Amino acid sequence: MPRITYVNGQYLPHREAAVHVEDRGYQFADGVYEVIAVRGGGLVDEDHHLDRLDRSLGELRLAAPVSGQPLKFIMREIIRRNRVRDGKVYLQITRGVAPRDHPFPAGAESSLVVYALPVRQPDPETGLKGISVVTVPDIRWRRCDIKSISLLPNVLAKQSALDSGAGDAWLVDDDGVITEGSAANAWIVTKDGDLITRHLDNFILGGITRIAVIELAEKAGVRLVERAFSVEEAKQAKEAFLTSSTSYVKPVVAIDDTVIGNGEAGEVTRGLYHAYEAHMDAQGANGAAD
Ligand code: PMP
Repeated sequence: MPRITYVNGQYLPHREAAVHVEDRGYQFADGVYEVIAVRGGGLVDEDHHLDRLDRSLGELRLAAPVSGQPLKFIMREIIRRNRVRDGKVYLQITRGVAPRDHPFPAGAESSLVVYALPVRQPDPETGLKGISVVTVPDIRWRRCDIKSISLLPNVLAKQSALDSGAGDAWLVDDDGVITEGSAANAWIVTKDGDLITRHLDNFILGGITRIAVIELAEKAGVRLVERAFSVEEAKQAKEAFLTSSTSYVKPVVAIDDTVIGNGEAGEVTRGLYHAYEAHMDAQGANGAAD
């Protein structure tokens, strides 16, 4: 079955799906994106993702070529045509094709690309296997709240983590405070059992998984505090984990050379892992595309 990708109004065989060399996404990283988990054929937390997309577009004064129900239809159609039950949808909007010049082009139409990929879902043993992270300086711009396709510092951070044998990088600001992961939000559980994740501001992306996990923690009676935490505090934590639409809830069992807790996923992390799995399963069952 050929993979099908949506590009500006057309459903194309994936190998023919392309944008122009003068697309502003290609030349200026002038665009935004979303990655949405697919579970049981349904989109997980679709409305939250579309709200964040609208916000990112608004901050960049970028007009969506398609939004609302027609955009939901395209995502469902891409899931259906690619027969994805479990996986993810990638969606990108850029400021379109125009001769290369910094000002917003007059009259250019923004571009929309949507594709879907199947992803093998982890069993609990694999999913709960922790990763180590390394801390690296956060060298990004000051609008990390926008889900921009400009991801070079994130790419460099991730690669340096892999080069040093770790699974991910946690980014650290000039005051020694952890902002977030290279492509995920960062969490710790203190010795007192408080769940901590950074408050929302312009230095982190407001994760959609973060929203769900906050709700699930509250339901489970876990005390949650949204505040910044330092590398030192994280290294002394009882538990640590990260969240994203592709990693879900992922235990972190070492930070740099410091083992966290007993080196395995802790109790709060395990509880939230299972709760988030159930959340995804329920979302899928509710919103199945066919
Ligand atoms: N922060 C960054 C920098 C990210 O790239 C991501 C993943 N898109 C996240 C956090 C987590 O966001 P979400 O839970 O919406 O996937």
